[in-house]
Amino acid sequence: LFVEHDLQEGAEHALSEAHAHYLLTVLRMETCATLLVFNGKDGEWRVEVTRQSKRAGSLRVLSQTRPQTPLNDLTLLFAPIKKERMDWMVQKAVEMGAGTIRPVITEHTQNQKIRTDKLNANIIEAAEQCGVLAVPTLQTVCSLEALVRSWEADRPLFWCDEIAFVSSPSGLLADYRDQPKAVLIGPEGGFSQQERELLLAQPFAHAISLGPRILRADTAAVAALTVIQLVAGDWR
Ligand code: SAM
Repeated sequence: LFVEHDLQEGAEHALSEAHAHYLLTVLRMETCATLLVFNGKDGEWRVEVTRQSKRAGSLRVLSQTRPQTPLNDLTLLFAPIKKERMDWMVQKAVEMGAGTIRPVITEHTQNQKIRTDKLNANIIEAAEQCGVLAVPTLQTVCSLEALVRSWEADRPLFWCDEIAFVSSPSGLLADYRDQPKAVLIGPEGGFSQQERELLLAQPFAHAISLGPRILRADTAAVAALTVIQLVAGDWR
């Protein structure tokens, strides 16, 4: 369970309304029940529940069960798509080890209304589910031009394009093992010709193919992160 508090042995924290509802009403936890919590910076801890009433209680921090792990230096940049598919994409990106997630507006991006609070809640839920202790960072929405302009030249940016001028990415990616990596996925309408030219002109940007079929953007994000993790990431 993700909590906002600092976690130190012996500390006691009142349950938030949402956690009180979840732990005391939904899970019906009684005093002395234990569970594992994390806050994104102090590792994972076993805590004990104290039930004060039906709707109020507290957590007492017992002992650390796992030390904090660092955030993966793997970034998913994506053109926002329809909400349900975007939620799925972000959830799967966390499961695949993305440490940073950033929506990028491109020419053919149709959904420009991003609820960052909802996306963040989605990221936390995915982190809880898959057991990563470092909660991925959701960066502010930016345009593709702004992204390219502010990109650090020594950070490789892999952009996925269904246009078949690129071959299998495994050879290219293998050269970037143990380096920070970022992958960019276009919108359902794909990148415009101008955007392709912009990206092709950047020495740090490398086009990669995900095979001879056109994947939906959400599938492409998961496929790209999987290939990166397999060839050059933390999947060993
Ligand atoms: N332009 C296309 C169209 O409208 O027919 C499709 C775009 S595709 C649905 C959305 C994004 O997924 C693309 O911009 C690209 O980043 C990624 N993508 C999909 N299939 C891909 C492939 N085979 N190789 C690389 N990237 C792919």
